[in-house]
Amino acid sequence: MLKIAYHPIYKYQLPPGHRFPMEKYELLPQQLLHEGTCRPENFFEPGILSEEEILAVHTKEYFENLMNLTLDKSAVRKIGFPLSETLVKRGRVISQGTIDGCEYALKYGVGMNIAGGTHHAYAGHGEGFCLLNDQAIAAKYLLKKYKHDGQIASQARNCVVKKILIVDLDVHQGNGTAKIFEKEEKVFTFSIHGAGNYPFKKEKSDLDIPVPDGTGDEIYLQKLKETLPKLIEAQNPDFIFYLAGVDILETDKLGRLNCTVEGCKARDRFVLQLCKDLKIPVQVSMGGGYSPEIKIIIEAHANTFRMAQEIFFWIMGKKKKDNKKKKGLKKECCEKYLKKGEHKRCKRCPCFDMTEEQRLQRFENLEIKPNSKN
Ligand SMILES: [Zn+2]
Repeated sequence: MLKIAYHPIYKYQLPPGHRFPMEKYELLPQQLLHEGTCRPENFFEPGILSEEEILAVHTKEYFENLMNLTLDKSAVRKIGFPLSETLVKRGRVISQGTIDGCEYALKYGVGMNIAGGTHHAYAGHGEGFCLLNDQAIAAKYLLKKYKHDGQIASQARNCVVKKILIVDLDVHQGNGTAKIFEKEEKVFTFSIHGAGNYPFKKEKSDLDIPVPDGTGDEIYLQKLKETLPKLIEAQNPDFIFYLAGVDILETDKLGRLNCTVEGCKARDRFVLQLCKDLKIPVQVSMGGGYSPEIKIIIEAHANTFRMAQEIFFWIMGKKKKDNKKKKGLKKECCEKYLKKGEHKRCKRCPCFDMTEEQRLQRFENLEIKPNSKN
């Protein structure tokens, strides 16, 4: 099942006229529910990230200054949001959502966060609307927890995470993330970003592809498609983080690239399909999106979630009209096993990832029951 971290605290109350489109965090889940891409059970509320996980990435001094609200004015100005207890709590909840998303990704192939992608946060300071670096924190968490074979409960299989790839396709370079993992061989940082855009002093990712202002879909997608598959092959990661910023759009007021909503969707499809095909679990954080029209932001972000549903969970083809054959196969497959009185799980069955209870519920909707005389 697609699991998405969301908490009402994501929408932080900003002073009137602030340029950050905070309402997107509330509107996006509403849109996904309204259109039927998600059901309420797709969303979960993360808790508050522990100090221990934060200190695996951030300095004690920075964390204490956040907790005591004692950051100096220039440090707060760099972050770009007024500092408060709620803002700090919000940062912790978002990062916990990314950690939980990783666990879901190990279970279901993908896990997502309605916020996050706070890649401008460094170990010792925040900037560019980023307080704590959610994917860096989650990467450290995975490397620690799954250093040796760990049990993934749902599939009762062993999992080990030794190498992580961070695919940062937000229009702004993930300077904080690049710096944090500068000397960490287990984490490979990859970024495609606007060369002429913030941050003006770029850090060095393991692989940077800066693109000039005005780059459109064709060149952008070409660079991605010729790089990412080779990179994955060379690095052989056990886990991928994807930062799906939608500030690459032509309408974005902070973006400066010329990509269309369709191009942005094609980008998401390419990355997610690749992860799915290569069976590499992927956690997706949302990143930036600053188009003046909120409906364009929502549409572009919603596409990331639509793509995840379609690619990872709707193989049955709710949206894929050319996939009717597969749809038939799935049901037939379930019924075939039921007829034999077996409860075997077939990879092509929609019940493959379900719990026993969910499977039985599904059977209730089928004509043939598990205990039918057949
Ligand atoms: Zn951005």
